[in-house]
Amino acid sequence: MKCVALIPAAGQGKRMGGAHSKPYLLLEGKPILAHTLLELERCPLVDEVVLIVERGEIERARASVVEAFKLQKVSAIFAGGVQRQDSVWEGLKTVQDDCDLVMVHDGVRPFISAEMLARSIQGAVDCGVSIAAVPSKDTVKLVSAQNVVLTTPDRKSIFLVQTPQTFKRDILLRAYRQAMEDGFYATDEASLVERLGLPVKVVEGSYENIKITTPEDLVVGETILKRKTCRMHNAGPTP
Ligand code: C5P
Repeated sequence: MKCVALIPAAGQGKRMGGAHSKPYLLLEGKPILAHTLLELERCPLVDEVVLIVERGEIERARASVVEAFKLQKVSAIFAGGVQRQDSVWEGLKTVQDDCDLVMVHDGVRPFISAEMLARSIQGAVDCGVSIAAVPSKDTVKLVSAQNVVLTTPDRKSIFLVQTPQTFKRDILLRAYRQAMEDGFYATDEASLVERLGLPVKVVEGSYENIKITTPEDLVVGETILKRKTCRMHNAGPTP
């Protein structure tokens, strides 16, 4: 079963502020994007990685991430589009027929684990589509444009959705073609499948699997990385 991972890492990153592009900001001396791609490199279930970056940053991504960290699975780097959905399409349209599963994972979510990737892939094998998610710890309210609460959904049924999201290739292609025909845009790929009426399986994500979006996330990210390193050392052989 061949699995290709599409990694959107384009976009302006306006919420981060400053002039630096998010995927190349350093976490313990390594670009965020390198952390993400190294996890995929280590995962035997992912065969190939396609990277999508800002138009002017293809060479930067190649030199400072792919070559610098000797990433063998990255088979192509493409320029992204205006919206995230356009960026993913730039990769998806190049995926060959011999690929069974397409995984989409945000370039700026570096804290994926081998277990999460395996759950994501197994979910897609079983159900066609899987998304990683965690139960909401907070109560969520739908709010009007005038900042008045419209409704409070039952917290037990609220999940915060992350990536990876993994799809049988033909399902994702169908969903994309339909969305493009209808001019429909969403903030994740699963939404495109949901509107076809097909089931989307939720698999366990992680509260550590944050998307590094704003400057505070970088501080949290440093802490998560330290905890991960500690866990790895504690799990190692005892001297
Ligand atoms: O915008 P959002 O926070 O949903 O971005 C999630 C991921 O999508 C990020 O890794 C970002 O680099 C990527 N993205 C993209 N092309 C865009 C916008 C976002 O590849 N036009």
